[in-house]
Amino acid sequence: MHNTPKSIYTQEQNPHQNSTNLLATERKFSLGLTTYEVTHTFKPHFLRFSRQNIVRKLLPESRVSACIRAVKPNASFIPVQYSSSKKIACYRNLMVCGLQWLCPVCSNKISNFRRQELHELIENSSYKTSMVSFTLQHTRRDSLGALITALTASMRLFKNSRHYKSRIENMNVIGNVQALEIVYGAQGWHPHYHLVQIHNSEFEAAEFEAWSKDRWSRIVRKQGAYASAIHGLKFTVGNNKVHDYVAKFGVDQELAGDKKSKGLTPFQLLDDPKNHHLFLEYSEATRGKNQLRYSRGLKQILRDQVTNFEIAKDVTEFDITAAILTRPEWSRIINKRQRAELLKVAADSYKAADPDILSRYLRSVL
Ligand SMILES: [Zn+2]
Repeated sequence: MHNTPKSIYTQEQNPHQNSTNLLATERKFSLGLTTYEVTHTFKPHFLRFSRQNIVRKLLPESRVSACIRAVKPNASFIPVQYSSSKKIACYRNLMVCGLQWLCPVCSNKISNFRRQELHELIENSSYKTSMVSFTLQHTRRDSLGALITALTASMRLFKNSRHYKSRIENMNVIGNVQALEIVYGAQGWHPHYHLVQIHNSEFEAAEFEAWSKDRWSRIVRKQGAYASAIHGLKFTVGNNKVHDYVAKFGVDQELAGDKKSKGLTPFQLLDDPKNHHLFLEYSEATRGKNQLRYSRGLKQILRDQVTNFEIAKDVTEFDITAAILTRPEWSRIINKRQRAELLKVAADSYKAADPDILSRYLRSVL
């Protein structure tokens, strides 16, 4: 096995290989450095950057194409920072897009943060939770834009009615968070909403379930769409089930071939050029739409809520400067498609308390 420089360039370019190949590639790369362990977090990390490269090609005008690539106008250096608490690395002085719908890298950061925030809220409190899932029927002929319009309008009517408001008051709901999710399956686009409701004490659910199923079906019909009175709306009570959903929030977006999901997530559509026109349709249809919407009550509970953009900029503690790159060095990292690799090596190097791993890697690529 030869440690040719080429072997280290393959991962961000082509992370869709099986783990045996990944391991072989990685061993090639790490000869003389260290043997990394291939963990379950390894593949998604490269996948995110690789998918971001594809979005850049598909949407060159979008902010995604500059994300973690373009250097901020007045910056001369690009520091690589390491967080000793989170054991991950990030770049400074680069542009970030913060576009949750379109950017696989920013989306992951935002989902992780929001997932943790919700998890802590419902795990470390006496709050009870419930979840309402809203769907409507669709075929392959329906455009995503039309489906989202019908779904969003129905959702607004449902939540703004005094019937709903009086019912959630009776159920001691003090706040909610609404998530719009989109997958593409055998029946075409499947946009749907999950509404996680936070209750400050026990509540009676039977009446709400019957009422909301009927109400949803009727509202959707008024929008010229169809939702079955039985399956269109699903009501889930019980902290365990709702916590399961919150714990997985956003994770499905990047796990290729997830058998349980009803289709491909938008980021999975990037993996096959035959599906790229669908991703473009999705980018149009989600423009200006909120992926997560927190109610005023929930914002008050969470108080100083961090914005998506701040999350994407890595506002958390990155206390150690692992390396400082010049602009020409950064250009080399970009050209050799090493953005993902460098972050991983920096993190591994500090985790192993051996900064030499990083220096040797940098000597080999710069
Ligand atoms: Zn981004």
